[in-house]
Amino acid sequence: MTDAGRPKDGPTLDPDDWSELRALGHRMLDDMLDDLARLRERPVWRRVPDAIRTSFREALPTAPTALDAVYRDFQERILPYSSGNTHPRFMGWVQGGGSAVGMLAEMLAAAMNSNCGGRDHGAIEVERQVTHWVRQIFGFPETASGIFVTGTSIANFIALVVARTALFGASSPDRGIAASGEALTAYVSTAAHGCIRQSMELAGLGSGALRLIPTDSAHRIDLAALRTAVAADRAAGATPFFLVGNAGTVDVGAIDDLDGLATLAREEQLWFHIDGALGALAMLSPELKSRFAGLERADSIAFDFHKWGQIPYDAGFILVRDGERHRAAFASPAAYLRREARGLAGGSPWPCDFGPDLSRGFRALKTWFALKTYGTDRIGAEIARSCTLARYLAERIASAPRLELLAPVGLNIVCFRYRGADPDALNAAIVAELHERGIAAPSTTTVDGKLAIRACLINHRTQPRDIDALVAGVLELGAALNHD
Ligand SMILES: *Cc1c(COP(=O)(O)O)cnc(C)c1O
Repeated sequence: MTDAGRPKDGPTLDPDDWSELRALGHRMLDDMLDDLARLRERPVWRRVPDAIRTSFREALPTAPTALDAVYRDFQERILPYSSGNTHPRFMGWVQGGGSAVGMLAEMLAAAMNSNCGGRDHGAIEVERQVTHWVRQIFGFPETASGIFVTGTSIANFIALVVARTALFGASSPDRGIAASGEALTAYVSTAAHGCIRQSMELAGLGSGALRLIPTDSAHRIDLAALRTAVAADRAAGATPFFLVGNAGTVDVGAIDDLDGLATLAREEQLWFHIDGALGALAMLSPELKSRFAGLERADSIAFDFHKWGQIPYDAGFILVRDGERHRAAFASPAAYLRREARGLAGGSPWPCDFGPDLSRGFRALKTWFALKTYGTDRIGAEIARSCTLARYLAERIASAPRLELLAPVGLNIVCFRYRGADPDALNAAIVAELHERGIAAPSTTTVDGKLAIRACLINHRTQPRDIDALVAGVLELGAALNHD
């Protein structure tokens, strides 16, 4: 080959001179740290103005724009309109506040640009390290396997698929569920998160095969009703196989009798899975841990580091007691994923053997950084502190005659309402006003048919004064809207 045929070096996406990019990068970092340090000074949430909303219809940017101009655009059109979940008075749904350490680690992970689907490299070892810690947190054996996933929605789905494969053996993924001719049934309380139902649909089992078991007055699954439902299904020729326990229900934070469920699952030979999205990490708190007795007996646990663990989104996790069964559900032979004893293709099994994702980001790094930097005792203490704040809010409600508590406060969620005419509409309006005025951001839910203002205290930045601001806001808006 002559030199004439050899292509010349070409431009890359890296700059020729890094100094300008470096200066701007440092400024971005400073700006974001300032932003975190000053969260309190701004409203929790503000609506995206119509003009800005419609401005996001630009044509495909085929030509370049200077990075500092794009960054300015970010500062003007994107940053001010965040959902607010980093803010100390964000109390809606179940959303963690993240942390500065997590943010920095995300930057480092982005620089490494690791693909954590597999192969033999350091990022995979970090994920194995975190998995090892997760086993320790939940008292699982060394043979348990785990991987990071986007969130508990997909983690619950993975658990269901592993349980289904375990039931029918390794050939079941080939033949599909219909080939078995069996009607599989699954069980969870009526307080289950909607993703359990969706998992049944995605797994091809159908949500009709999910039995929603009633709850007791504390919103925990009714074990006697569960036993009856399993027996009725067996009598009707169905195959009960999957039982989900709630370790913190999404509405009110109730914890099922996990030990009772574990015993029932053993007797009935059901796969015992725990949806611990909200509450499982409370195992890090010595004062809360005993409430989760039985969790260590589960076959699998789904939970989120991005909620109570304060790891930046997303950082869901699935832990499976029997690592072999976990792998059997997902490992597949593909020529391009061939494993070797040496070189970069070594280090089997790979994370892609334990879930449906092949390309995967380095979620483990931000988690590793935060767990090491803060220490799990400190994270456990923050978790306990949010429960203290929830009790404080419950006391404030109890001493305000216009307010009414709608569910027992078991963990960190407080459901209450302002007493008034047409209370559902009134309380929905109060919450919308709280959001639009940027005072606080609780959400709503329905408890025993009543619309409730729901405050989920999960953000490590929330202080008693933020609870006071919520109560004051509800009382003031309630009085105004109800014409008291
Ligand atoms: C948040 C939540 C989920 C869903 O988890 P994602 O991380 O949002 O996918 C499932 N179950 C419960 C109890 C939850 O609180």
